[in-house]
Amino acid sequence: MTSDRNGPWRKTVPPRLLAVLCLAWLTAACSAPRHGLDACLTAGCESHREAVTLSARYRVRTDAGIAAARQTADFMEQAADLWGPLFGDPDPAVLPLEVRLHQNTADLSALLARRNLSPLATGLYLPGPTPTIHTTCCGKEPGHPYRTLLHEGTHQFVHLVAGCPVLRGHGDNTGVRLAIPLWLNEGLAAYYEGAFVTPDRLEAGRVAPLRLKQLQQALRRGRAPSVGSLMAKHYGASFAPVDYATAWGIVYALMQEAPLSVEKITGRQWIQGVVEKSRQGWGALDSISSNRPARRWWDLITERTRADFEAYLAGSGIGLPEWEARWRKWILSLP
Ligand SMILES: [Zn+2]
Repeated sequence: MTSDRNGPWRKTVPPRLLAVLCLAWLTAACSAPRHGLDACLTAGCESHREAVTLSARYRVRTDAGIAAARQTADFMEQAADLWGPLFGDPDPAVLPLEVRLHQNTADLSALLARRNLSPLATGLYLPGPTPTIHTTCCGKEPGHPYRTLLHEGTHQFVHLVAGCPVLRGHGDNTGVRLAIPLWLNEGLAAYYEGAFVTPDRLEAGRVAPLRLKQLQQALRRGRAPSVGSLMAKHYGASFAPVDYATAWGIVYALMQEAPLSVEKITGRQWIQGVVEKSRQGWGALDSISSNRPARRWWDLITERTRADFEAYLAGSGIGLPEWEARWRKWILSLP
């Protein structure tokens, strides 16, 4: 990664953005890791000399040894195959996609502390200076570190693969600008996080049981945000666990092409259209090239995505309130 590419991105990302790109689970005490890569569970907590491995799309760096690096790279390649149909293949200019696997959990804790992020996060995606996923090798939560890799890996794909290449001639001809809104970014990350079955088996489209349970409880108690208010949240706004669950529920419904059956465009096709508009900069490349302040840029993509969703619904003759009513009923009907 060159400094030319990463400099402008770094300048446009306020620290608070990073908070919404981390996945908050309980982190592991190193003394009792219950879940993790085989190579890490057998190696204990001690750091090894740094190992690096390169696969077709990923570079994994770790202090957990070369076996853990290779295991992680293999998993990420499987995950990239999962993301490909929606996001497309990464442009060679953004490769390799970087992953940092920390055997020493104190290293991740220090990263989180430096950015005033929750110490409970099990990983994060840092979009700059070198866009990198960070997570720990071992953890207490089931499926660690695979679920975290899927969640943060989705954020990396949303940024680097579905993002908008910044125009040439403005000091950054290979940079990438995040161009989908917060709710969709987190909803997709939660959706793909649910694909984990085993380290060798990923299945997109599976229900994320904890997200569903939380969303159903919130809907029954009247504590879930409205779809409209969630879609209006911009980067930097607070995003509570119930917001993650709601974002998951919206994306899950759209990716399942339910509860709304639209003749011309399915929910999945709508999301694919958003990804394409993201790549094209929402027809606002002038705004990007003139270094529009990040907050205003995120307001713009948030508003345009919301308008695009309403236009999609209008194509089937319904408005957002009606869709939301059908969606709530469908979510509550799920076992
Ligand atoms: Zn996230």
